[in-house]
Amino acid sequence: MEEEDLYHGETFRDRVSSVTASGKRNWIYALQPKGKFYNYRSIISYVYLIIFFVLPFIKVNGAPLFMINIIDSKFILFGKIFWPQDFFIFAVGMIAFIVFIVLFTVIYGRLFCGWACPQTVFLEFVFRRIEWFIEGSPGRQRTLDHGPLTFEKIWKKSLKHILFFLFSFLIAHTFLAYILGIDEVLKIVSESPSAHMGLLLGLVAFTLMFYAVFTFVREIVCTTICPYGRLQGVMFDKDTMQISYDYHRGEERGRFKKNEDRTKGDCIDCKKCVIVCPTGIDIRDGVQLDCVGCTACIDACDEVMDKVGFERGLIRYASENQIAERSRPKFTTKMKAYTGVLILLIGIMAVMIITRKTVDTHITRVKGQLYQEVSDTRLSNLFEAKIINKTNTSLPIELRVEGIDGEIKMIGTEKIILKPEALNDFTFFLEIPKSEIPERSNNITIGIYSNGRKLQSVKTKFLGPFK
Ligand code: SF4
Ligand code: SF4
Repeated sequence: MEEEDLYHGETFRDRVSSVTASGKRNWIYALQPKGKFYNYRSIISYVYLIIFFVLPFIKVNGAPLFMINIIDSKFILFGKIFWPQDFFIFAVGMIAFIVFIVLFTVIYGRLFCGWACPQTVFLEFVFRRIEWFIEGSPGRQRTLDHGPLTFEKIWKKSLKHILFFLFSFLIAHTFLAYILGIDEVLKIVSESPSAHMGLLLGLVAFTLMFYAVFTFVREIVCTTICPYGRLQGVMFDKDTMQISYDYHRGEERGRFKKNEDRTKGDCIDCKKCVIVCPTGIDIRDGVQLDCVGCTACIDACDEVMDKVGFERGLIRYASENQIAERSRPKFTTKMKAYTGVLILLIGIMAVMIITRKTVDTHITRVKGQLYQEVSDTRLSNLFEAKIINKTNTSLPIELRVEGIDGEIKMIGTEKIILKPEALNDFTFFLEIPKSEIPERSNNITIGIYSNGRKLQSVKTKFLGPFK
């Protein structure tokens, strides 16, 4: 007896769709979807791809708009350079990001996976499109794969794999441009390979990895490898919006016969929703971890519903509760609250990034130095200032004592000009009238100004005589 019969068609509970009963790879030949959602996704994907490939070329004041240089711990977001000293922003950002992911998933399910994940965008709108263009429909692809080695098979397969490799090569280089900057990547590409052997090997490894992922691994990334995908099960609840089959409307399924007085449900068991599914599942079996929320089955089923004259939406975005209670989608209090928290988190992160200081200053008294009497009425202390210039331009700086009558005398320089993207060291004497020094250790504040604009206030201690 067939395994399907033994388990009454419930084999989807026992294994992932990409594996056959005997444990072999079940290759998914997905049909290209057609419809409203696929059109929206196409537009989003084109914009996404343009942004992905163009962003590394955009510069602000000579610096990239975005750069995540993990190797040198240098990060540029929206043209602003972030140093390891700004790590707290990343720490807060990471926490906000995780909370964001959890709350977003609880409300909107795998919306990100189906619409914005790079894996989905590249696979569905670059690699699979090339495949459909060269090899044709799923039926033709299957025939080509299982047929003899003909001239047609050789040129089609060769062309496909060459294009797949070229796109993987392009993606790998673009990723590297986000890490090292486009100038560095262009230098590596134009100079002799021996001058950048390490980076070149890295590029080859990345190219091969992307090629393997988009050519062979494919949906297994979403169904088995991706940790976000694996964690969906614990984040979903009965109010989570997901791609759902309306079993009240659809069951009992049965073939559609023209002019028949239909007593069965609206599902005509055409399996179009299964054929278009890029992960090879049947959404009519209920919500499954393998569903990436791509909406292809909604488009496919809507097209079928139009043809047979039934209402659209047999498969639609709906929560488990909405399907069970036959209720309409509503923006529940929980959804409003979570969305509010998500907006708040984005706002906090935006404020942190926008208000981040352009200089980071530490001023301390030079160790081992006591105060000096420079006159009968004035005392001086020797200080050292370490100022990080986080911008990519030279910055003229002025130090001013705040709140009291004090004078700063720089040592070795008249003007302070901060070197771009560098830690700058200075020493200076600070002279203060004795009348302003009531204690042995006195709090003082020094303002850091550039072109008359205050950038930062720094607190330090001024040493006076014992009282
Ligand atoms: S596409 Fe719609 S009608 Fe056809 S099998 Fe799927 S759910 Fe049923
Ligand atoms: S079940 Fe539908 S939404 Fe889910 S992956 Fe398959 S086609 Fe996409």
